Amino acid sequence: MDVNIKNLVHAFSKLPGLGPSSSRRLVIHLLQNKEKIMLPLASLIKELADLIVECKVCGNLDAKSPCSICTNPKRDGKLMCVVEELGDLWAFEKGSIYSGMYHVLGGRLSAINGIGPKELNLDTIPKRVAELEFEEVIIAINPTLEGQVTVQYIIESLKNLDVRISRLACGIPMGGEIDYLDEGTLKAALTSRQEYELNIK
Ligand SMILES: [Zn+2]
Repeated sequence: MDVNIKNLVHAFSKLPGLGPSSSRRLVIHLLQNKEKIMLPLASLIKELADLIVECKVCGNLDAKSPCSICTNPKRDGKLMCVVEELGDLWAFEKGSIYSGMYHVLGGRLSAINGIGPKELNLDTIPKRVAELEFEEVIIAINPTLEGQVTVQYIIESLKNLDVRISRLACGIPMGGEIDYLDEGTLKAALTSRQEYELNIK
């Protein structure tokens, strides 16, 4: 196999959900459809990579920073929804079930994987809440053990601020992923969200 083909197969195999054999099939398909699929795809990826930046306010990816959500005057500037990943933000946006602001962490705390607060967009939360006078922080973090550690860290960082902290209601199974939920379930979990009890603050 040509070394360039090998490199592309290797690059694809690093993507979520793709192993070596599915990557090989993908590359074969691309090479056999060079004009119709491979070249348009290559330029789309290049254009997107050149265009998209991370919003310096909320961590969203968009064509501008601050992003189109942060700068939209029609959105509720008193509500902040904290999510782990961009996919979770997209899940809320897809259903148009939420009209507040976001805060994208970029992952969750994980001692095993060496991910501490500095690796995530965590310490900007209390800063944003204080400066922009948010009234409520909705924590929409996946219910995993590492997620719970992350939630505790956020609650601790907000304890001296006058802000309501809530979490999504039941409906998200333990270990479940927000971006796999159907819109109805996510909407129900959001509308019947519960405020965190003071004693765990
Ligand atoms: Zn933003």
